[in-house]
Amino acid sequence: MAKYIFITGGVVSSLGKGVAAASCSALLQSRGYTVHARKFDPYLNIDPGTMSPFQHGEVYVTDDGFETDLDLGYYERFLGIKLTRNDSVSGGRIYWDVLNAERRGDYLGATVQMIPHVSNKIKEYIAAPTNTDFVVCEIGGTVGDIEGKIFLESIRQFANDVGRKNVMFVHLTLAPYLEKSGELKTKPTQMSVRELLENGIQADMLIVRTPRVLSADERAKIGMFCNLPAKNVISGIDVDNIYKIPLAYDAQHVFDIIADHFDLPSAVGNMDKFQRIEHYLGADLPRVVIGVVGKYFDVPDAYKSLNEALFHAGMQNNVHVELKKINAETFTPDDAIDVDGILVPGGFGTRGVSGKIAAAGYARENKIPYMGICLGMQVAVIDFARNVLGISDADSTEFSKNCTPIINIMPDHNSGNMGGTLRLGAYPCVIKPNTLAHQIYGTDNISERHRHRYEMDISWADKFADAGMIISGRSPDGRLPEMIELTDHPFFIAGQFHPEFQSSPYTGHPMFNAFIAAAAKHTVK
Ligand code: GLN
Repeated sequence: MAKYIFITGGVVSSLGKGVAAASCSALLQSRGYTVHARKFDPYLNIDPGTMSPFQHGEVYVTDDGFETDLDLGYYERFLGIKLTRNDSVSGGRIYWDVLNAERRGDYLGATVQMIPHVSNKIKEYIAAPTNTDFVVCEIGGTVGDIEGKIFLESIRQFANDVGRKNVMFVHLTLAPYLEKSGELKTKPTQMSVRELLENGIQADMLIVRTPRVLSADERAKIGMFCNLPAKNVISGIDVDNIYKIPLAYDAQHVFDIIADHFDLPSAVGNMDKFQRIEHYLGADLPRVVIGVVGKYFDVPDAYKSLNEALFHAGMQNNVHVELKKINAETFTPDDAIDVDGILVPGGFGTRGVSGKIAAAGYARENKIPYMGICLGMQVAVIDFARNVLGISDADSTEFSKNCTPIINIMPDHNSGNMGGTLRLGAYPCVIKPNTLAHQIYGTDNISERHRHRYEMDISWADKFADAGMIISGRSPDGRLPEMIELTDHPFFIAGQFHPEFQSSPYTGHPMFNAFIAAAAKHTVK
């Protein structure tokens, strides 16, 4: 049976439970254990797909086409694992399941209650088989949230069901530093752990977010008040890059604490891949400036996976990638002059589209390396249709109803009737030989994740190709353009998919790696 680690948080939200959970998992992996990760979000949305990036940050997409919280991205990247729709579970989804079961009559006339019906449903998701040594479950929100209560109750029951020795409770808190008195305050941590205890959960390890390392006295004090050994109180210091956190935890013997709890043999981990990242971060390397033409910049996490992918690609190319945020809503071609590459990411709705089309055109004309993601492919196609083929009213039907529709909703393609709904998740793509796309991926068949509604109309393929924009990747049935590129350009490529969801901090992603390599070359010139 798998061992379970539950991560909860208290005092304030946004303490970085996802990164903490991923970092603990990385330590387990570094000792040869296999780990699966799950996220439970108590809120009532059925899934985060409908939540605005302005409020909630990026919507992450799994291979199986589920729209999830961005923490799933941390898990997949950090741990190199693939997660599914059953690893991102919201309160709304739990109630939806329970109420549907009630309507079907599954409960055979019983009174349907929070306990046991809702708690059993939560435990069902927790216990879904994984074939790994560990399952790390993050409980979203903060201890004390009303909608989180039933989740705490469920993990309490779960520990009782499977045996306390098979479950570890890790709690994240905050110890604020008071400038005036020069003191680190532990009271909020004590209160948060007490609140957890009121729900029947004794924390086994505390990760205390603090501006400076906790002293031995402070750890002893927290340990005493919170009913756990002082050695199980860890300092969660702010770092400038999340990949340093596994190293910081390792230095504080977090693995030994976990091993002690579960009676595992002590072991030294192989932390090479994190050390390599730390070394890269401190290295003096050339800078490559990428202009990202977007509209969600006020939300720090809105382009999370994209920022990660660019960072990974910088590492693979031994350069530091600097992002220049270019506001799509105000962009005029003059703004982009001092960048080494232009990237137009995904997006929905009309706002900022004309700026994005202009940016694609600017990259095309000035031979600046260009990478387009999803909407970034569509705007490149629209620019080409308007300004190279001379179809002045060329557009996507998402933005204009009275246009020559180059981008349209394509019902009935091979993946079923998509009319009106998003194409979500991993789809195969066949790459044309002797193209930039083929050179980048080095293979004929790839799989990338999608999240969009509109497609380029393939019937334009010949006209575009004759003028210099070719379709270098298609769906296996040949009907959906998946990648485009310019033949007479040093590097101009775009995909209808989101490659950023599959970029790894340890190997990067072929498309991003090639884009940054091209941008680095552009700088040198
Ligand atoms: N809005 C476009 C579509 O729905 C692009 C979506 C995206 O970039 N993710 O097709």
